[in-house]
Amino acid sequence: MRITIKIGSNVLTRQDGSLDVTRMSALVDQIAQLRSQGHEIILVSSGAVASGRSELKHIQHDLDSVDQRQLFSAVGQAKLINRYFELFREYGIPVGQVLTTKENFSDSEHKKNQENCMRVMLENSVLPIVNENDTVSVTELMFTDNDELSGLMARMTQSQMLIILSNIDGIYTGNPADPGSRLISIVKPGKDLSDYVQESHSSAGRGGMQSKSTVAAKTAAAGISVIIANGKRDDILVKLMNDRDNTPCTEFLC
Ligand code: GLU
Repeated sequence: MRITIKIGSNVLTRQDGSLDVTRMSALVDQIAQLRSQGHEIILVSSGAVASGRSELKHIQHDLDSVDQRQLFSAVGQAKLINRYFELFREYGIPVGQVLTTKENFSDSEHKKNQENCMRVMLENSVLPIVNENDTVSVTELMFTDNDELSGLMARMTQSQMLIILSNIDGIYTGNPADPGSRLISIVKPGKDLSDYVQESHSSAGRGGMQSKSTVAAKTAAAGISVIIANGKRDDILVKLMNDRDNTPCTEFLC
């Protein structure tokens, strides 16, 4: 199966904002296991801005928001990809960095180049690690967040599945902190979740459950099944693929 996996900033960062290399390493182990089971993986990873911010603690943080994003992502992306490169190399898995912008999914010439880049990497068993090119994509050129990017990437690469990893098990019937709330495990096509999904943003990244739910519904409507799950749970990716019925998650059927 070809699977696009999106890992959110909140999964990869500790509470103090530093890069959680232990978690990263555990996710790499799982992706390597899925590859060895024959799955083809495209990784969409956030975490550049968060890891750059924690690296540049000495810098005065009174820069405007665009400057901050450009500076932190430039430094943080280098750190992030370097870690991934080293971790996957232990498994002999070659990885390639794909930094992209929204126009690469709309303008036909740019889109062709993006499609070709993904094709040639997958054909040569190179694992693409995709992120928005935060250094140059600002304001109206930006994706809403990496949830949107992962949905577009899943469609472009004709993935059969999109897994969105966040720091929560999925979509709940109310506030997840409320003991009366229940995790919704299956979302049938066309089901309206607006009564359940609350607009709250994660602290480390740009996306929230609202955007995940919108992207998931849209991507499922395009024939790709989508799972939202908690990337901080041990062995989550392997469990989702091998024992989904006993693994907390929200699955959007297509
Ligand atoms: N591209 C951003 C980063 O790597 C994350 C955007 C998002 O949170 O969705 O930091």
